[in-house]
Amino acid sequence: MEAVVRYAAENHDRFLEELKDLIRIPSISSSTEHKDDVDRCAHFVKEIMLGIGLESAEVWQTDGHPIVYGECLGAPEKPTVLIYGHYDVQPVDPLDLWETPPFEPSIRNGRMYGRGSVDDKGQVHIHLKAVQSWLKGTGTLPINLKFLIEGEEEVGSKNLNAFLIDNQKMLAADVVLISDTSMLQKGVPSICCGLRGLAYFQIDLRGSKQDLHSGSFGGAVKNPIHALTEIVNQLKDEKGRIAIPGFYDDVVDLVPGDREALAQLPFDEEDYRKEIGAAKLYGEEGFSVLENLWCRPTLDVCGIWGGFTGEGSKTVIPAEAHAKVSIRLVSHQDPETVAALFEDYVSKIAPPEVEVSVQRMHGGLPFLADTSHPAFEASVRALKKGFDSDVVFIREGGSIPFVQTIDEVLNVPVVLVGFGLPDENAHAPNEWFDMENYEKGILSSIYLYDELSRI
Ligand SMILES: [Zn+2]
Repeated sequence: MEAVVRYAAENHDRFLEELKDLIRIPSISSSTEHKDDVDRCAHFVKEIMLGIGLESAEVWQTDGHPIVYGECLGAPEKPTVLIYGHYDVQPVDPLDLWETPPFEPSIRNGRMYGRGSVDDKGQVHIHLKAVQSWLKGTGTLPINLKFLIEGEEEVGSKNLNAFLIDNQKMLAADVVLISDTSMLQKGVPSICCGLRGLAYFQIDLRGSKQDLHSGSFGGAVKNPIHALTEIVNQLKDEKGRIAIPGFYDDVVDLVPGDREALAQLPFDEEDYRKEIGAAKLYGEEGFSVLENLWCRPTLDVCGIWGGFTGEGSKTVIPAEAHAKVSIRLVSHQDPETVAALFEDYVSKIAPPEVEVSVQRMHGGLPFLADTSHPAFEASVRALKKGFDSDVVFIREGGSIPFVQTIDEVLNVPVVLVGFGLPDENAHAPNEWFDMENYEKGILSSIYLYDELSRI
């Protein structure tokens, strides 16, 4: 183990140079203009895999962007760990808000700035370099290891499900490890054991064939914007509960142990409020902020539009009004079931004077890990050593639908060990990655593979 840790320390600067090269490739998966860059990035990841000493690595074409798969299976009798990550990145606009160009990585104040630095290139690189340290430092790995690094995470992992199902045998593992989440805060190593799911809709209302003069028709026709606000007002009640009948039927309730664990986390609601800049926090009555963020479902109108919003005044009754609605789900809610409940409810409460329709946009399942599996204990021990600090179990309010998919298809524990920080601007301008967490991430991963060899 000493040789492994020493190798990582001695090669730290080389690791950083390579991470910069990885960030320099603009692998924006949502942009057809960058298709070749995404491809180039996949091949670069493959080259890194071969360079660190994996037995094999290959770029697999899909109907969309390629998947990179590599493996090192030299430890018979030992557990097999599948590490999932993604090499694609989010778009970079608005470009003028970046202090340095997104694809020209630079280190300032212990932070690596650049698109993908934390989400997820930097975190994938942590594992690649921890594996390299084992293989180059000792010539062997304590576990069997498989890397599955995809190029479509930022566009919904469209082709991953089919890839998983088609290649179940190749991907079979005892544990899945994912580093694509955040720590609770700096200095607090965290394992994420729950993610919310998503159901997203657009509501469209029509009140007349075309816009009407508000003088000639006002008072005789229902205004669709008024109708829409009536609908929106009935989506939640005064206690912050979602008013859709049957909505909470499948929600797993918090048990006292969960609530105690959450209450003990170093999280200050007042600091959180100040950071957001809200006059007062809001949430479902009877639950703390963290409980509401991580363990309870929620509904939000993300946008609402219709009618005249230009300069000056225009006396008009608009023909249409629209809203986008996102619902965050928790275990064991199912986006399809929730969608049916939502559609029924909206059509029931819509005023009779308007035509209403609901479009189902994207959805994703929630995830909740069973932390009693020994892989979690092993991860706690490794992180504690790597960060020299106590480890906490957290959840995330956001959604990574793929986690639930891999959980279902491979049917093994999924451990989310994230090395990011909540304020590192993932998906926003000036994305950065804390270099201390990068270093401690490598160290923790070195320990983690060793710990996982004994589960
Ligand atoms: Zn990510």
